[in-house]
Amino acid sequence: MSKRTPLIAGNWKMNKTATEGVELVQAIAAAVGIESAVQIVLCPPFTALSAVSAAVEGTHLAVGAQNMHDKVNGAFTGEVSAVMLRNLHVTHVILGHSERRSIFGEDDAFINRKVLAALEASLKPILCVGELLAEREAGTTKDVVRRQLELGLQGVPANKADQVIIAYEPVWAIGTGKTATPAMAQEVHAFIRQLLTAQFGAESAGRMRILYGGSMKPDNADALLAEHDIDGGLIGGAALDAKGFVALVQSAAKSLAA
Ligand code: PEP
Repeated sequence: MSKRTPLIAGNWKMNKTATEGVELVQAIAAAVGIESAVQIVLCPPFTALSAVSAAVEGTHLAVGAQNMHDKVNGAFTGEVSAVMLRNLHVTHVILGHSERRSIFGEDDAFINRKVLAALEASLKPILCVGELLAEREAGTTKDVVRRQLELGLQGVPANKADQVIIAYEPVWAIGTGKTATPAMAQEVHAFIRQLLTAQFGAESAGRMRILYGGSMKPDNADALLAEHDIDGGLIGGAALDAKGFVALVQSAAKSLAA
């Protein structure tokens, strides 16, 4: 881990009612206290955002959404906008998650419009990129990541680059219990930082956080977070339980001290 402030984000996906979400927040907040060297972002479903935002008041925790539309308002049934999220004190938004890409057919151009709209509304996008198993086996991981990153970040002004967080999530590792080895993950993270350097310059790229996501758990987090370009984690399954999630926050804090 580098000197960048580590970030641990929990992607609750379609789990937790508002009531259950508040209970989880309270358990996490009690365990991490009001100060932590690690930035923590909880991303509940839309229906729990309001309650979770209220529950994090006065704590060290921030709130993110799992998706948004790129337009400010209009006839987009079932969608929400960046302005609506900001109104609920949401500070981050996950964009381009592989489930949005594969199940809901989101393409790089749409995801790019969302990234720009999020920044316009002062929301910090967590842009997810990552290859499918077949793409890794075909040796095209870097081509896929390059395409998703370059198209996803098109038009992002250099002075807003460090508001953007990248999450490298090999799709074959998401929810499967299979994790990229620390060396495999570091290789792609270093490649991503190279691409960010080419687009935004070394100073901005050096400040940007690149998270790893894909079955990160308390028993593999220390080794992943010890890698130079792995600045935290985007956590799915292990974010649904306070004990496991807090253990990941503690791993990130430990990696800072190392
Ligand atoms: C995710 O969906 O972003 C994720 C990383 O899930 P999991 O930790 O369950 O693999």
